[in-house]
Amino acid sequence: MLISRREWEDALGGIYRGDAEFGAPMKNHTSLAVGGPADVLLSPADPVSLKNVMLLLQKKNILFLPLGGGTNVLVRDGGIEGAVINFKAFRMMQVIHDEGNYAGLFVEAGAPLQMLVNFCKEKGYAGIEGLTGIPGTFGGAICGNAGSYGCEIRDVIQSVVIMSGDGKIDRFDAEDLGFGYRRSAIKPTDIVLNANIILRKDDKDAVEERVQKYLAEKMKTQPISARSAGCVFKNPEGMSAGKLIDEAGCKGMKIGGIEVSGVHANFFINSGNGRAADYISLMHEVSLIVEKKCGIVLEPEIRVVGRE
Ligand SMILES: Cc1cc2nc3c(=O)[nH]c(=O)nc-3n(C[C@H](O)[C@H](O)[C@H](O)COP(=O)(O)OP(=O)(O)OC[C@H]3O[C@@H](n4cnc5c(N)ncnc54)[C@H](O)[C@@H]3O)c2cc1C
Repeated sequence: MLISRREWEDALGGIYRGDAEFGAPMKNHTSLAVGGPADVLLSPADPVSLKNVMLLLQKKNILFLPLGGGTNVLVRDGGIEGAVINFKAFRMMQVIHDEGNYAGLFVEAGAPLQMLVNFCKEKGYAGIEGLTGIPGTFGGAICGNAGSYGCEIRDVIQSVVIMSGDGKIDRFDAEDLGFGYRRSAIKPTDIVLNANIILRKDDKDAVEERVQKYLAEKMKTQPISARSAGCVFKNPEGMSAGKLIDEAGCKGMKIGGIEVSGVHANFFINSGNGRAADYISLMHEVSLIVEKKCGIVLEPEIRVVGRE
């Protein structure tokens, strides 16, 4: 359902505290810097405003997209119908216990993942060093079970608090969230609010050393400062998607402003005024070539959202 700016303002009046950006260009809110406008981008300032927004959206049957750092999404050029909701006001991190060999932390979904990695490094808490250098938020990392260097966010998750589309809030144990390789069973209409995590206490210098080692490795092997949405395709079982794309001769292939990175072939870079349509065409081209050369069908890792 489409509603006008005036109707949004009337509906939100009195029930909502926070920013509302109308016609928000999603290229300004995604790491790939691609994507048309969202009807409205809402940044609730407190949990009550978030809940009221969710109830409003349900009552009026309006579509919505939860968005973290926008580092794993490709927003189509037609933008997003309805509301995009972000969590920049929800970034609290708190140690809830620190006894014996383990420490427990409470972390809100909007906390940048690297803020958490750095906090753990400073405290000597071990378990998420492998996530060093992954951009985006803690909530986004939970939804896609982000990971690298043999470490995944699910390794440290104890429980996650989720608000469903009807504003109901429930706590789920990690084993009930269907975590797998770059996926979880969290529904697109669920909002991750926060989670409790558990980390092993270690020597501070040892944690720092691992963080530095992973960071140096990432900077050498990935185009981390270029405009991308991370890995385009999931690694097929026991194989590297980047290696398959490279061996199929696709490095440097370009459609419009989007090209296959010369540093890591599983990253597509927006090198100019790239459009989502270019990115999607390049995905099709590359996966067809890889399938033809080695018979493997690549599965997307990035999430494609929005209207054509
Ligand atoms: C340079 C670069 C390197 C990367 N390296 C890695 C890597 O090594 N490993 C890896 O796994 N990923 C990597 N990524 C991808 C990406 O950073 C991760 O997937 C990250 O965890 C996504 O977090 P985000 O907050 O940006 O999520 P977004 O991109 O904003 O959202 C991703 C999905 O999660 C949903 N979502 C986000 N927040 C919430 C919430 N609070 N509640 C409900 N749903 C939510 C969105 O609706 C969307 O479906 C990389 C990306 C880049 C650009």
